[in-house]
Amino acid sequence: MQPSPQAEPLASDPRVLILGAGPAGLTSAYELARLGVRSRLLELEAQAGGLSRTLEHNGYLFDIGGHRFFTKVAMVERIWHEVLAGDLLERPRLSRIFYNSRFFKYPLEAADVVARLGVLEVLRCGLSYLHSRLRPVRPEVTFETWVSNRFGRRLFDIFFRTYTEKVWGMPCDKIAAEWASQRIRGLSVWALLKSALRPSSDGGARSLTRQFLYPRRGPGLMWNRMAELLQRRGCTLDLNTAVERIEWDARGIRAVVANGRRHEADHFISSLPIRELISKLDPAPPAWLAQAAGDFHYRDFITVAVVLRGRDLFPDNWIYIHDPRVAVGRIQNYGNWSPEMVPDPDTSCLGLEYFCFEGDGLWAAPDAQLIEQARRELSHLGLAPPSAFLDACVLRIRKAYPVYDESYRRGLDSIRRFLALVPNLQLIGRNGMHRYNNQDHSMLTGILAARNVLGARFDLWELHRNSEHLEEGDEISDEEIAALEQSQPLTPQGRPA
Ligand SMILES: Cc1cc2nc3c(=O)[nH]c(=O)nc-3n(C[C@H](O)[C@H](O)[C@H](O)COP(=O)(O)OP(=O)(O)OC[C@H]3O[C@@H](n4cnc5c(N)ncnc54)[C@H](O)[C@@H]3O)c2cc1C
Repeated sequence: MQPSPQAEPLASDPRVLILGAGPAGLTSAYELARLGVRSRLLELEAQAGGLSRTLEHNGYLFDIGGHRFFTKVAMVERIWHEVLAGDLLERPRLSRIFYNSRFFKYPLEAADVVARLGVLEVLRCGLSYLHSRLRPVRPEVTFETWVSNRFGRRLFDIFFRTYTEKVWGMPCDKIAAEWASQRIRGLSVWALLKSALRPSSDGGARSLTRQFLYPRRGPGLMWNRMAELLQRRGCTLDLNTAVERIEWDARGIRAVVANGRRHEADHFISSLPIRELISKLDPAPPAWLAQAAGDFHYRDFITVAVVLRGRDLFPDNWIYIHDPRVAVGRIQNYGNWSPEMVPDPDTSCLGLEYFCFEGDGLWAAPDAQLIEQARRELSHLGLAPPSAFLDACVLRIRKAYPVYDESYRRGLDSIRRFLALVPNLQLIGRNGMHRYNNQDHSMLTGILAARNVLGARFDLWELHRNSEHLEEGDEISDEEIAALEQSQPLTPQGRPA
């Protein structure tokens, strides 16, 4: 172990240190504050909000992706309203798939698919679907087999293959079936046909996919405001503060060193990517855990935000680009998320999203080259002529997506074995649990971790088994969450002796 700097006092009992001030970490602090505990948050960036922060370029606001506020978790929605009050807008959703120079509504609608594909192609898709139902591929372990078995290979090729491969940067037969079952459960050929025949039969779910909540000035408004509230309630938020070292011993986590300062605490709640957490353990962890760090992989992300002359370039909030001839995977139209994202109403701000790996050709390309590529691709897609370009900036985001591949489960087993040794550490959030969580579930893990600090016994990993995040999924009521209590076999201990 390296020599330790002097400890920073944390004036609260119990003393809670939260690593990362994204939605999960902030919400954990918020719940603790509600329960009377003031915590300290350590955040690497200059701004709170993590992947859900809003960025600004010459007065234009944009998200990392577009962040819909959409949840079936009642207590999360209450917090959104509590913090944002009248600044949470109800927005209409329009998102389409661009494939073969045509726009398909997304979520898919049977009548629209038939109209755009044409009768002959629909017949081919029908035959391919029947074939897959009669002779499904077994075992069903990959994304490709999971989707093809349910939709037929032809629909898989049209609507799933290209975009999925853009997002993950690997062939669909290398992506775990689990990802498909988490993200597209509930969608089936039958559900599509039923919705075409009886359009109002699932009115509730459909209306939820047709509108969403969105803060007036982007998701950053939520997280900046929550950060202010926390500070007013006596919490400490250290920005520009990188967690460098996590000291531990046989009894638990002892302290965290960040920016050369040592912070002792009784409870530690981490939303850091698991790979990073393991690499910061001091003394170095046993070999089985050190090796597990290599089991976690991530997909990185670039947004080229461009300002264009002209309003109403297209009506969508975002468009999925399935066209394999361009590298862009998705295009956001931020003015359609909230008009306040765009200061000059005679202009538009689009976000061209490129999925990549840190260090690959796209990641390493100079900004000017990426901006030129964005200009070319927008023109190729027919969405904006090169002459409309006014301004642009490039944003590179590490670890935007936790990858579900062949190794991450093994890694999770190891990290959970480690957590049993250090009961005063809890992992929360998206990369914190290596789970494809949206804001709401990231927040929920933060809330439950906070309650565990005060003696509750929620097993956050069990929560995921019971409540997959899905638009078509089940609601999670406060009562159901309460019923999950006692699922945690290990009660996090108080101050380690
Ligand atoms: C492209 C994209 C689109 C999305 N769209 C939506 C959407 O429409 N709706 C939705 O609800 N969710 C969406 N999400 C998901 C949402 O962004 C996440 O669920 C949420 O941000 C996760 O919160 P978190 O606190 O777990 O993690 P993060 O937001 O990743 O926060 C973790 C924090 O830890 C900090 N950190 C990391 N390392 C260190 C270190 N060494 N020291 C100190 N701090 C550190 C980071 O800087 C970060 O602030 C989207 C995500 C992406 C990438």
